[in-house]
Amino acid sequence: MRFDSIIIGGGVAGLCAGLRLAEAGRKTLIMASGQSALHFSSGSVDLLGGEGDPREALQDFIDSHPDHPYAKVGHDNVLKSLLDLQTHCAAQGLTLVSGERNHHRLTPIGTLKSTWLSPDTCAVVGDTALPDTLLLATLEGFRDFHPALAAANLARQSAFRSCKILTGELRLPQLAAFSRNPHEFRSADIARLCDRHDLIKELASEISRLIIDSGTPCSHVILPACLTLGLVGPRLAELEKRTGCTIREVATMPPSLIGMRLQESLKQRFLALGGTFLTSERVQGAHCEGDRVVGLFSQNGEDILFEADHFVLATGSFFSRGLESRLRGIREPIFGADVLSDPERDAWAGRRLFDHHPFMGFGVKTDEQLRVLRGGTAFSNLYAAGSVLAHYDPIREGSGSGVAVATGWQAAGHILGAL
Ligand SMILES: Cc1cc2nc3c(=O)[nH]c(=O)nc-3n(C[C@H](O)[C@H](O)[C@H](O)COP(=O)(O)OP(=O)(O)OC[C@H]3O[C@@H](n4cnc5c(N)ncnc54)[C@H](O)[C@@H]3O)c2cc1C
Repeated sequence: MRFDSIIIGGGVAGLCAGLRLAEAGRKTLIMASGQSALHFSSGSVDLLGGEGDPREALQDFIDSHPDHPYAKVGHDNVLKSLLDLQTHCAAQGLTLVSGERNHHRLTPIGTLKSTWLSPDTCAVVGDTALPDTLLLATLEGFRDFHPALAAANLARQSAFRSCKILTGELRLPQLAAFSRNPHEFRSADIARLCDRHDLIKELASEISRLIIDSGTPCSHVILPACLTLGLVGPRLAELEKRTGCTIREVATMPPSLIGMRLQESLKQRFLALGGTFLTSERVQGAHCEGDRVVGLFSQNGEDILFEADHFVLATGSFFSRGLESRLRGIREPIFGADVLSDPERDAWAGRRLFDHHPFMGFGVKTDEQLRVLRGGTAFSNLYAAGSVLAHYDPIREGSGSGVAVATGWQAAGHILGAL
């Protein structure tokens, strides 16, 4: 099987590389062994944490972190890559919005997390004033979002000081089937049910009942993200029309439908641009000639070779097995690439959960063009992107998906530039 480019990994980094290559008319294949981190993430895209405008903070950050992936992409290209992401998502009907500075998205436990881009259907605290009253509602029996816990934590935030937070449970008899097995009562199960049966009318009357029962006028409601596996905008609009309330979603505990929708939108866009996406295809190894990768083989055996002119390694971090932690050290399993690590195992993690953990910055080393290094020499046609990369700490910096988007986009740019 021969392609112009092959990307290993179907997360946001691999998809952003694939979108740019497919859009340029290249015959592009993405091979993904399984789910990506987006299935567990909020679906918001962090650029750089902090309260201000991360676009302004970016250049200083790059200057003080010369090894960081953002430094290899460059300030302007990082911003271009995020605009491209917004354009591709918009083409699939998913609107990602930003303001003039970071906004805060609500987490399922009622804390606020600073981020750059969020779907316009998400519950966020931005520049507009908060309402006087807010209803946090969940579905009766659902365990992955607890309005009382979220409300208690939100009430501690200064932004919510003058906002009265109501909580309640929506009762839907259709959900009774799930009560037999709580493991089947996850956001994705509810979404599948809502996709099969139109429950909007029942949901709307339950929201109205909660507001009437509270005895407090309220026209702003937040629900857990579990109403559909597809685009939620039309469904929320219908609920808003029936209730007269503004309705937004909060990501639940994983699986996270908001992240899954972002993944699916990017994948569908990639397919629409002519790309090929293979799922359940774990790349096991590569055939190389000198510094050139010739082809890849998967779990189906070495005699089926996936050949291409260029390759992108976007296999994620430990979470997705793009990096493997062994007793003797950290390794990148497909190419045996050079990995930034610490020989002293005791130095890998901080002592407490919320301490800094050096292993977060471990990953594959590259040259300035994001070409993967092995034995200190760069492969001529293999680039790396996303959380497999060394020298960045998504949690400490608040840069998780931002780095994945920017480096995926940039790796594709280098491939196009090399043609
Ligand atoms: C729980 C969680 C919450 C997060 N929340 C946020 C957030 O709110 N905001 C934010 O900006 N960032 C967040 N992040 C970080 C962000 O999601 C990741 O940095 C980003 O998604 C990484 O994308 P990636 O494409 O590099 O890797 P991944 O998403 O990990 O994708 C790797 C892909 O490679 C595939 N793969 C791995 N090995 C092979 C192989 N051998 N062959 C074929 N395919 C392979 C995997 O199946 C997967 O498809 C979160 C991360 C996690 C884990």
